[in-house]
Parts: sequence; C-alpha cells; structure tokens
Amino acid sequence: MLNDSPTIAAISTAKGVGGIGVVRVSGKDALKIAKNICNADLTPRQVQFTSFKDKKNVTLDQGIVIYFPAPASFTGEDVVEIQGHGGIVVLNLVLDACLSYGASLAEPGEFTKRAFLNNKLDLSQAESVADLINASTEAAAKSAINSLSGIFSNKINALLKNLTDLRIFVEACLDFPEEDINFIDQGKVDKKLRSLNEGVSKILDSASHGQLLRDGLKVALIGQPNVGKSSLMNELARESKAIVTEVPGTTRDPIKSDISIEGIPIHLIDTAGLRETEDVVERLGIKKTWESIKEADITLILVDVTDTDGSYEEKIKKKIPKGHKIIIIKNKIDLLKQKASIDYQDDVPQIFISAKRGEGIKLVEKEILKIVGREEPSSNKEDLFMARTRHIEALEKVKKALKKAVLNLQAPELVAEELMIAQKALSKITGEFSSDDLLGQIFGQFCIGK
Ligand code: GDP
Repeated sequence: MLNDSPTIAAISTAKGVGGIGVVRVSGKDALKIAKNICNADLTPRQVQFTSFKDKKNVTLDQGIVIYFPAPASFTGEDVVEIQGHGGIVVLNLVLDACLSYGASLAEPGEFTKRAFLNNKLDLSQAESVADLINASTEAAAKSAINSLSGIFSNKINALLKNLTDLRIFVEACLDFPEEDINFIDQGKVDKKLRSLNEGVSKILDSASHGQLLRDGLKVALIGQPNVGKSSLMNELARESKAIVTEVPGTTRDPIKSDISIEGIPIHLIDTAGLRETEDVVERLGIKKTWESIKEADITLILVDVTDTDGSYEEKIKKKIPKGHKIIIIKNKIDLLKQKASIDYQDDVPQIFISAKRGEGIKLVEKEILKIVGREEPSSNKEDLFMARTRHIEALEKVKKALKKAVLNLQAPELVAEELMIAQKALSKITGEFSSDDLLGQIFGQFCIGK
C-alpha cells in the first residue's frame, strides 16, 4: 500500500540509559538493511543473536534481531527490530548504520501512521497508542488499552452502521417516491433517529469521561499563607496514593502537583497567597496566581475557619470571573471541635475540613467529581475508553444533526442531509474521512520511534 514510501528507522525505546534499547526499521528495504548490519540470514519472527556492524565492518554492539515480514507487523510493512544495549551513543551508532544503508530517519509517530495507512489500526486506535504511552494514572492506561483493542472503535462502527442503514432508507424514499414508502407515517425514521440519538448520548458520556482520564482537571488552590494549602495538598495526594511531583520553583511560584481522584488526573496548582503587596517578587507571584485561576477548571479557596473576618474570601469571590467553578474550603475545624460537613451558599459549595487530621478530604474529592459530572463512580470500569476533544466534538456534531433531523421529519431532504452530516462526523473519529492536515496534527504529537 505504501510501496513508494522510503524505509524508515528510529530508536523506539526511551531516550536515556537502559538495559536494552531498540532500533526499529520499517519499509521495503528493512530486511536488506538489517542483513547488512547483522551479516546474517534472518528467519521471520525468530530471535537471532548477532553482532551489529557498520559499513566499515566495525562492530558497534551485539544483541538480538527479529524480522517481521509484511503484512504481519506493527506497520504492515517489513519490519526489523534490532535490540542492543540501551545506551544513547551505542543506539545512535546502530541507527546511523541503518541510515548509511539507505533508511530515512522516521518522523514523529511515523510507524503508527503507517500502521494506520495500512489498515492495521484505525485513527482512534492509533491515537490511543500515544495516550497509553502518556497515561498518568492506572485508569487512564486501562482506558487507553481498551481503546487500542477496539472498544471505542466498535461502538462507533456499530453506530455508524445503524446511521448508514437509516440514511440508505431515507435516500431510497427520496429516490423512489412512486414506491410510496411513507416513512413519516410509519414512524420508523422518527423511532430510529431517537434510538440513534440515545446511542450517541451514551457514547458521548463515556467519551467525556475518557477525555477527563486523558487530559485531567486543572485545580487551583488559593488561600492566605498558613491557611493549610500544603497540608490539604498532601492529604489529597495521600488519598489518591499518588506520587507527588513537585515542579521546582521559588516559594512564590505556583507549585504543581499531579494527583488523581477516581483515576482522573488532577493537576493541582498550589499558588502564592493572594495578598495586596508592595513586594515586586510577591506581586509577580500574585500575577501568576490569577493566571493559574484563569487556567483552572475549578478553584479551591481555602480559608481558616477560625478567621471570622471573611473579607479575604469575599474579595476573591468578587474578582473570580463569572461562571468559574469554585469551592470554598474552611480548614482547621478541629480547633472548633466541629465535624466535617458541606453546605451550599448561592450554589457555591462550602466544605468544612481539617487538613491536619485528614477529615473532610473525601467531601472535597466528591465535590470536585460532582462539578465535572462524575460523582457516580463508573460502574463499568472495564468499558471505559480514552477519548479526545476531537472525538467529543465529532459526537456533539452527530447529536446536533440527529436533533435537527427529528425536528425536520416532514422534510425528507433535510433528514437525508442531516444524516449525511452525522455520518461524515462519525467517520472522522475512526479516520475514514480524515484530511491530511488532521493526520499531520495527530501523528505530529507522537515521539520519534513510535
Ligand atoms: P500553607 O502556608 O497554606 O501551605 O499552610 P500549611 O499547610 O503549611 O499549614 C500551616 C500551618 O497550619 C501548619 O502549622 C499546619 O500544621 C497547620 N494546619 C494545617 N491544617 C490544619 C488543620 O486542619 N488544623 C490545624 N489545627 N492546623 C492546621
């Protein structure tokens, strides 16, 4: 299928030092190149121990080599994997030898792109390769592998089939009016459109969850010094059993910490206190704080429950843009011998906690999930799949078109038109109708060697 494409090569393992490292070669000359380097006849799918040599017959490394003839390979082309020692220099020497025998250096994501173009994977599966590699929580990794194994694609394809069947029926009504297939009277189209709409809604709901698992949530944590921000952050991290990764910075820089709630990665930004100040450095920190709030999906405003003044909280609330989701957290309830609780003031949640004692942390987590519509833990975790913004947008387009079709049942031409729009949008997810621009954008986000 890609016979004119050059043979490509790249280091496919992570850049760094490791026990082993892999140089992958794909294309019509892969076998020839590997034979030159390994000076051995290669039997398909058999591991062979050998030395790797350059053009001047200098031994570069030794290791194993495996040949996967087309089409039974990852890319669907002839592929050779040269597995040597995992040092940056030694792997580059082996890669250089491949290039000297005629291979071209692979573009980012080119192996996966070729797998897609050779129908080894559809587009959403190809995307899930990158999502699996980049997954930051166990749930995210599981949903990516579900997508890779086709769960998402199968759902889309089933929906696409029903949509196409309906479109064929409607077009037939238009093309053969003399047959007198009055679909409106039969109510068949109406019923089918509604059932399709239900199907899209279900997938859209799972896809939104999948998108959260992939992209996570940005949560800003603000409050005056000593109010308990670090303590709360540590408690949230402990609850999620996550490894806290602190991005180093000055004390006045926002500190980012990646934790998770129900498998959703939470990018928590602990910010500098929002104080009016003359200090230039501190003012810089405050500027960053407001930037963090603007960027965040949710802002947690932490206050000391024993501080009855309330002016800080009011000031911040006033400055926060309308529609921005906030949770007020009143910390240190242990000092007042109170129990953890939650109430709502003008729909703004107010949670009473003790970060020091780890009380009320679950309430905070639950409220964050509630704000993003995920308060009910997914009953069927095995069925979760990874999704991206472009998938959600496509599904929303399908939903809109189906809705328009239902509203225009009296005009079959319009129903047919909307079904065509829905079909095209849905096909974009699996890549049936995808422009080169979109492919470039998707595969460009991969690393070289994937
Ligand atoms: P930050 O400056 O906002 O990050 O505040 P820290 O988390 O460093 O906490 C400041 C001080 O308040 C520390 O001495 C904490 O032990 C204390 N603290 C934090 N949370 C609580 C709490 O829930 N109850 C009590 N009594 N003290 C707390």
